[in-house]
Amino acid sequence: MLIGSHLNPDGDAMGSALAVSHLLDGMGIENEVLCHHVPPKNLEFLPGIKRVRQVPKNPKHDLAIVVDLESLERLGSTEQYFHECPRMILVDHHVPHKMPGDIRIVDVTASATALILTKIFLEIKAKFTPEMATCLLTGIVTDTGSFRFRNTTPEALSMAAILLENGADINLVSEQIFQSKPVAAAKLLGIVLNGMSLACDNRLAWSVVTVDDFAMTGSTDEDTEGFANELLSIETVQIAILIREPKANKVRVSLRSRRGYDVAAVARNFNGGGHKNAAGCTFDLPLEEVVDRVVEKAKQCLESS
Ligand code: 5GP
Ligand code: MN
Repeated sequence: MLIGSHLNPDGDAMGSALAVSHLLDGMGIENEVLCHHVPPKNLEFLPGIKRVRQVPKNPKHDLAIVVDLESLERLGSTEQYFHECPRMILVDHHVPHKMPGDIRIVDVTASATALILTKIFLEIKAKFTPEMATCLLTGIVTDTGSFRFRNTTPEALSMAAILLENGADINLVSEQIFQSKPVAAAKLLGIVLNGMSLACDNRLAWSVVTVDDFAMTGSTDEDTEGFANELLSIETVQIAILIREPKANKVRVSLRSRRGYDVAAVARNFNGGGHKNAAGCTFDLPLEEVVDRVVEKAKQCLESS
């Protein structure tokens, strides 16, 4: 079986994919996990992370399982290998605008894909190993911001409790996900906060990271994980945008919002997507142009909501 998830993988993408892999291992079913990018450093603690490859070992698989993505394009360079599988199962919680898969298990009310998987595993009476439990808990902890975001449902907490009972290490997960910033990333965060722009009575905040900022601090795009939330942590800010250019003319945008503001709708203007309060989009345009366009749409979102 071929297991896949989205590029720029986060804790829910890798935690979910690896949990499926551990489950299949336990059932004696041969499987492998693919991802366009090598997983970021802060996910190195995930049991089984070393098995994540960019190219499959086995060229033929009967079944594909893709998790935590709403469009096959988000498989990046691994998409081709999934097309070669005769059947596909999709498990996801994004607002679905392109829905691939022969069997689709999509619950947009679920706080994490790992939560949907936990419920499925319970339903089929799977044997939870501590490794699987840690992977699944990582997905839930990541996507709920450590049980702080509005998507922290009673179900997320009860499933997390079950995962703890099955040996998940919550302290390891929280520390690795939220308290493992490299020094270079801390320096870059300083630049981001210092260079922040505000508009709409301080309700909109954005900051731009240039190729030079990355070079000067010795950081990479994966070090910016969580920075948009830092901007959103400011008292008045309702929409926060982090715009960065890891490579010339390759611009990535992360949007975060509070309550009533739908930043997935903002991202969709630019062919991006995500969730109401956490979304993103990508551009092959000069940085200044991206800033103008995205800020303009975010202002409209603030004014019309
Ligand atoms: P992040 O800002 O953490 O990279 O992404 C936040 C959310 O937006 C994630 O759920 C992710 O799936 C979605 N997202 C980020 N970038 C893109 C993009 O370029 N296209 C789409 N469709 N979704 C994105
Ligand atoms: Mn997710």
